Amino acid sequence: MVDKKSAVLLIFTGGTISMSEDPTTGALRPIDFNRLQDFMPELKDIGVRFKSIPFIPFIDSSDMNPDVWEKMALIIQENYDDYDGFVILHGTDTMAYSASALSFMLDNLTKPVIFTGAQLPIGMLRSDAKENMLTAIEIATAYENGHPIVPEVCIFFEDTLFRGNRTTKKNAEHFNAFNSYNYPPLAKAGVHIKYFRTYIHYNEHDRNLKVRTNTDRNVAILKLFPGITQHTVEAILNIPNLRAVVIESFGAGNAPRKTWLFESLKAANERGIILVNRSQCSTGSVEMGRYETSLNLMYAGVLSAYDCTIEAIVTKLMYLLGEYSQPEQIKQKLSISICGEMTVS
Ligand code: ASP
Repeated sequence: MVDKKSAVLLIFTGGTISMSEDPTTGALRPIDFNRLQDFMPELKDIGVRFKSIPFIPFIDSSDMNPDVWEKMALIIQENYDDYDGFVILHGTDTMAYSASALSFMLDNLTKPVIFTGAQLPIGMLRSDAKENMLTAIEIATAYENGHPIVPEVCIFFEDTLFRGNRTTKKNAEHFNAFNSYNYPPLAKAGVHIKYFRTYIHYNEHDRNLKVRTNTDRNVAILKLFPGITQHTVEAILNIPNLRAVVIESFGAGNAPRKTWLFESLKAANERGIILVNRSQCSTGSVEMGRYETSLNLMYAGVLSAYDCTIEAIVTKLMYLLGEYSQPEQIKQKLSISICGEMTVS
């Protein structure tokens, strides 16, 4: 049961939850906030004090970017003392990026920030929107002995609560849109909401929230595939102003043993570009040195992303490059888990 005195801030950014079909094109597009409110009469009866902040206009999350992450983080900062928890309504396409980015930006978070959305618009009969939103509100306001049960940036979807920076969108068709392949769920919602406390991270309460919104977008992803050419690799490594590259490798962090690949990566590393190895597999961790095919990456100065999601490593790099100027500082922060985003083996 939701505590009657609880207060939640609802931040509506957009996404399918707040869309309807355009009568001319048939394509889904955002509706305005007043119409959205008409679809949610239940909000008045949930026994929680709430305020809504709509982003105008609503955005499809494919248009999400670090400026909007900053806006969300600053809204949370401004309203931090007045609410028990925060629910962010967001499109599913890039929700895992936003949740990852906010987990780095909200340093020493001690209140719940729960992202949710829907696979079908709120106005449709079979929509998953209300169930997701109402359960997210319940989780955001769930306290025990005066302390929030889940003081983390999370994604709640269908019946599962995940750590935000461990999630990936896995499904564009079914209601279970997300998964966390390398970390267990934080809660399961059935008749009751069952929290798995051993997996939830708790920050010290005596430190204040510190919002860090500096980011640097000069990050690229280099996805390896059999037959990739030197030209393709060089084109990516020589992007102007490039500061970091995530190499999406095979299996446990392996790559072709081509001399030109080793030379190109080594040269990029010597130019000060930070190189990080992340596997194309969803489950498991990078283990450079396990196979001979990963030794060249190690010798070229490539770092490990361990079992990080692509969403978490890209946003972690953007955040670190924005916050720190010294490559050694950035590399040190890459080798540790900042807010539960990876398991360092
Ligand atoms: N394209 C939509 C978005 O991410 C999809 C969704 O919300 O599920 O905004």
